[in-house]
Amino acid sequence: MTKKQILEAIERHCNTECNLDGDVCCNVSCELHPSKIDKIKRNKSKLLKAIREHCLECCGGVPRSVSACNSSKTCALWPFRMGQEIEGIQFHVDINPEDDIENVIF
Ligand code: SF4
Repeated sequence: MTKKQILEAIERHCNTECNLDGDVCCNVSCELHPSKIDKIKRNKSKLLKAIREHCLECCGGVPRSVSACNSSKTCALWPFRMGQEIEGIQFHVDINPEDDIENVIF
């Protein structure tokens, strides 16, 4: 997985699965808030850690529930929920990993 894939998944999750009213997200406590992601967007391990924290919050702080999450078809973050690289993972975010990450818009 690339930083570009991770950032695209976060963007998709925030803009089409979470913050559905299209306004600027006001949940500044979220690990995936644009103000936080902007500071770590060049560090893949920190991006994965932020997603992991978000998934733990989604699952009430229960790691086993994150592992068992069955939202692979509906949540763009699903391939990254374990906070680490997973062999053979399928992405449903269709992007070109060669694209410049500066073009990712939050
Ligand atoms: S992958 Fe699962 S646990 Fe993580 S945010 Fe999506 S629905 Fe929640």
